[in-house]
Amino acid sequence: MSTTGSEGEEAITGDEITGTVIESSSGAATEANTTTTKPPRNAFAELMSTKPNKGQSLSTQGHKRRASSPSSSGPATSLTASATNKNKKRSFAGRDGLGAYIADPAAFPPSRVIYYNDDFVAIRDLYPKSAVHCLLLPRKVPADVEMFEVVRSDPAFLAAAQAEAAKLKQLVAKELERKFGSGSRSSALRQRVLDGGGGEQLEAGEEGEEWEGKKDGKLPPGRDWAKEVKIGLHSNPSMNHLHIHVLSRDMSSESLKHKKHYNSFTTNFFADLDAFPMDDNEVYARKHSNWSSQDMVCWRCGKNFTNKFQKLKEHLAEEFEKWKRE
Ligand SMILES: [Zn+2]
Ligand SMILES: [Zn+2]
Repeated sequence: MSTTGSEGEEAITGDEITGTVIESSSGAATEANTTTTKPPRNAFAELMSTKPNKGQSLSTQGHKRRASSPSSSGPATSLTASATNKNKKRSFAGRDGLGAYIADPAAFPPSRVIYYNDDFVAIRDLYPKSAVHCLLLPRKVPADVEMFEVVRSDPAFLAAAQAEAAKLKQLVAKELERKFGSGSRSSALRQRVLDGGGGEQLEAGEEGEEWEGKKDGKLPPGRDWAKEVKIGLHSNPSMNHLHIHVLSRDMSSESLKHKKHYNSFTTNFFADLDAFPMDDNEVYARKHSNWSSQDMVCWRCGKNFTNKFQKLKEHLAEEFEKWKRE
């Protein structure tokens, strides 16, 4: 599959590197074809339809401009630290693939670009490694800068990125609820109480939990899907543009095809955004970790699968079912 010769130590996968530029609006096909009777709207579409496709911004300029004219940008924040000395390219092939979204997010269908504002673009990952996998792309950080360094050295940027990632996390949580809420015990309990049922109409084998808070006039809290979402970045990313992963933690996806895929999200190669700012020793440890050769360990139960990827995949499928039902 891989057509680049550049799958080196840092590259997570060849298809990610070669396949970022979008061909059509078919990207959301798998999302839309879930077994629901509702129209194929997802939580992202629903939320975004209530407001214009542009949010508030950190600074007042620089939007909707091709990334090829950095000279005049002088934003209020320090997001563009070294924008001027980068050799900007118009083609966004290979490792620069994410640049296309940053330069012109309006050119992409809603199935790909979830939302954007002057400072960030939120997209669905083209090769999701989990049930819901999005990327947050800062628009004013030049390509080829050292991601960890930007996040470490610019507190204003870090704060802005964390705030924006928290927003996207809520959207991902809503999308998880939309996709899996009906199968989740804690979500279902809340729904039953809302529907006025005390536990009847349960599916075979399902236990009808009694809601204790009934007498206090309280609703069951339902499932906190945000707890199932992680936010972070890779120590040595395969893409040039700074991108923050916001994804559900299930690791259940057809695009998860080998050990490196799995380990890149489950070892210290994946740095939680909340772990920043990070001290030098920690950065060194992460950048020089042997993450890709470490044993594969189930994210949910901790079982060690050493190098047995197929066994892990089978197990992940089982864990996915249990996880959804929680
Ligand atoms: Zn990455
Ligand atoms: Zn497990």
